[in-house]
Amino acid sequence: MMSKKILVTQPALPPLEEFIPYLEKIWDNKWLTNNGPFHEQFEKELAAYLGVKYISVFSNGTLALITALQALRITGEVITTPFSFVATTHSLWWNNIKPVFVDIDNKYYNIDPAKIEAAITPRTTAIMPVHVYGNPCDVEEIQRIADVYGLRVIYDAAHAFAVKKDGQSVMNWGDLSILSFHATKVYNTIEGGAIVCQDEKTKQRIDLLKNFGFRNETTVIEPGINAKMNELQAAYGSLQLKYVDSYINNRLSLAQLYNSLLKGIAGITIMEVAEGVEHTYPYYPIRINAKEYGMTRDELYFKLQEYDVFGRRYFYPLISDFPTYKGLPSANTANLPVATQVSKEIICLPMYANLSAEDVKRICELIENKPWQK
Ligand SMILES: *Cc1c(COP(=O)(O)O)cnc(C)c1O
Repeated sequence: MMSKKILVTQPALPPLEEFIPYLEKIWDNKWLTNNGPFHEQFEKELAAYLGVKYISVFSNGTLALITALQALRITGEVITTPFSFVATTHSLWWNNIKPVFVDIDNKYYNIDPAKIEAAITPRTTAIMPVHVYGNPCDVEEIQRIADVYGLRVIYDAAHAFAVKKDGQSVMNWGDLSILSFHATKVYNTIEGGAIVCQDEKTKQRIDLLKNFGFRNETTVIEPGINAKMNELQAAYGSLQLKYVDSYINNRLSLAQLYNSLLKGIAGITIMEVAEGVEHTYPYYPIRINAKEYGMTRDELYFKLQEYDVFGRRYFYPLISDFPTYKGLPSANTANLPVATQVSKEIICLPMYANLSAEDVKRICELIENKPWQK
């Protein structure tokens, strides 16, 4: 019917010729992994870029999440959101922790702080919220609750790379924040991830844990894992930092274009960005009110595919609907009315740094004019 397929995302790569000198250095060094020079340089550059004090890079975001829970010795029950990528809850499962799902708010789609206290039991040790779509959680209120009950706060910040709130990194809230640099994210190191922490001792502990627990040649202090980032990815990450601002600026102008073209359409709700937030638009979600729009989200999703536009139903199904978690009392849909509703209405439209304005216009024209009805 139409020409080329527009996929929901496409990774942004730096110019190949600029990567070659980095590779030549690695070939000269013959240092491929285990805290090499690029790894060290990359952690410094990344901390400076993000405006955080301590960061430890990982081979991927999921291992960073799993290790973060180990680093703080989290056990028992952890309060979390069902409206996220499965890795958030899987990291709890891998640590033998029982996830307790709490519903989300209807505007920014993050865990609803007003519903957290009712989910706390004597076994609760931490809260693991997610800054979904890069929208900062209500970090002040979450911290207030955590302080009252003596809980740790570990943010899954996989969507929040470079997101700022009131002028500072959103990763400066909570005990730990976890990033993902997977190919599909705003900023990628092919695969990769990181833990941001607030003090040097915690960083040292995290660094031990990602390297089998080795303190020195002969001392293993506890069963760590192998989650180190290698030199090729660290070098690539270092080069990517030179381009990430341009990636983010492109996303911002595409989001503006989407906003202006979709705003007036009956039954379509665009995502709001809270005041004081510097957003990066890792995703471009819209909500479909089937009654007002005249089609359900699923009908639109499949219809767009016929016109070569491939959105994604992030996050549908909810994590709490997957077989592993479905049986938990907190996974009951009666406990999660907002998340259930949002997951039925949301669709993420194509969004990536190299998406063209023409493609955005074409997508919006399809949504507005519904040519399939003619
Ligand atoms: C991508 C993502 C992860 C997993 O990161 P990987 O680097 O792919 O392991 C975890 N949580 C959320 C919310 C994500 O979007």
